[in-house]
Amino acid sequence: MTIAPTWISHCEASTTSGTGSRETENQMSDSTTEQQQSAVKILEREQFYLKQIFNCRVCCKNTVKDLFLPCGELVACSDCSKLLTHCPSCNKKILATVTTYFS
Ligand SMILES: [Zn+2]
Ligand SMILES: [Zn+2]
Repeated sequence: MTIAPTWISHCEASTTSGTGSRETENQMSDSTTEQQQSAVKILEREQFYLKQIFNCRVCCKNTVKDLFLPCGELVACSDCSKLLTHCPSCNKKILATVTTYFS
């Protein structure tokens, strides 16, 4: 591999900016506690979205429990799945249901 002179100049530019990045690294180490706090916020947000996902799409009260076959979607609670003949998500005919348990 032959290194073109444009590459060398590019490397020099990166080394000079490297001193600048060291300053930003120090700033990042100072804000580690802030990063941890934001990570907790993200987790809290995820739990909120998971609760929304696991809520029955029909009654919006109970946790989803019955998985529909053949589409394989988990969108309704056991009470609502008894009343459903078609999947509320994709509208496919429900041939069988599988009751799932969250431990
Ligand atoms: Zn329901
Ligand atoms: Zn479906």
